[in-house]
Amino acid sequence: MRTSSGSPRTAIIGSGIIGAALACALARRGARVTVLDEGIPANRATRGSFAWINAHRPEDAAYFALRLESMRLWRGLVGEIDGLPVRLGGALNWEGAEKIETLAKALDEGGNTARLVSRARIREMEPALAAPPEVAIDAPLEGVADPDRIAGALLVAAAAMGAEVRAPVTVTGIASANGRVTGVETGGGPVEAERVVVAAGKATSALLAAVDVPLPMKTPLGLLVRTAPVPRLSQRIFTSDELHVWQMDDGRLILGEDFGGSPVASDAERAETEERVLERARRAFGMAALSLDSSTVTGRPVPEDGYPAVGRVPGMDGLLVATMHSGVTLAPVMAREVAAMVLDDAEAGMLARYGVERFGGAA
Ligand SMILES: Cc1cc2nc3c(=O)[nH]c(=O)nc-3n(C[C@H](O)[C@H](O)[C@H](O)COP(=O)(O)OP(=O)(O)OC[C@H]3O[C@@H](n4cnc5c(N)ncnc54)[C@H](O)[C@@H]3O)c2cc1C
Repeated sequence: MRTSSGSPRTAIIGSGIIGAALACALARRGARVTVLDEGIPANRATRGSFAWINAHRPEDAAYFALRLESMRLWRGLVGEIDGLPVRLGGALNWEGAEKIETLAKALDEGGNTARLVSRARIREMEPALAAPPEVAIDAPLEGVADPDRIAGALLVAAAAMGAEVRAPVTVTGIASANGRVTGVETGGGPVEAERVVVAAGKATSALLAAVDVPLPMKTPLGLLVRTAPVPRLSQRIFTSDELHVWQMDDGRLILGEDFGGSPVASDAERAETEERVLERARRAFGMAALSLDSSTVTGRPVPEDGYPAVGRVPGMDGLLVATMHSGVTLAPVMAREVAAMVLDDAEAGMLARYGVERFGGAA
């Protein structure tokens, strides 16, 4: 079941950053690929992401190496795709003062070229910070992607290389015969494919459940605030115990509190959280006039154990999955590796430990 070009017809469910990056990787290699997306912006984690491209957690060497490799690939993509909304301007991090020295050393030894910088040096690097910390980790290889534009930009690049993008199209099921995938069912009829990759973010779990594949996921909510535009403060990203912040190209600051769940159970709680985060940013930059532009509250697609769920789905030939948190960081490496599985029947390689089989289900 191969096309005349020799590569399998591939359908990707989802055009967030993971589906879009994969479409690019497949199209670049001449594959015939169709991306299907239901097109509801609020359902898209990529749009509500803080979008920091980073490698932390050096205690897990393999996962750390995966993130580093993806950062390296981002650098390549920036050179390759004109106007890609990714800025690798570095990060300054001063979370957890008690562990900062150990972390800087481990990051550096692991290959993230991080170093400790003193307050005096931070003042020189970042004059807009009103009260720089005593010490911070400077990670110059890290950066950000514009969450509003990155998936779209990758899709445009994929389409220019021959990928077909269909939206809004809701995939209602995965079609199969004799243990082999044959395509997907959509509201507008079936779409035939020899490979199907489920890259549907937090909806991935339900799509797989319908073919009896368990993928337990949690979706903690994250609130991010965008301020009204202000003059350029920095090209870097800053992360401290109380605030995560970077400045978008149009001058808006994008602010978050932490990577756990944000308190937003009611409108009042949401407004309180917005105001608290804004106030922290006002203090950080000594800018009393910082005001709210908008905020987003978005569920993070996180497989139960916190690691990506990616690779072939056992029990159904031709079905693959790619969903994860840190998808902004990990998209290029996931795209490259999954494309190799689709086109070269490659082994899972560096993704071997992230297969869905770890959650049980058909062998
Ligand atoms: C608040 C927050 C902060 C974050 N911060 C960071 C960070 O700093 N760094 C980082 O690397 N990551 C971060 N993440 C995680 C990152 O944003 C996600 O891992 C990534 O965006 C996931 O991309 P995706 O393409 O898998 O999913 P999504 O962007 O959710 O895209 C999935 C797509 O699938 C489509 N879809 C779903 N079901 C169907 C269906 N049945 N038919 C058709 N289409 C369908 C949806 O419409 C959607 O467009 C953060 C996430 C959040 C929410």
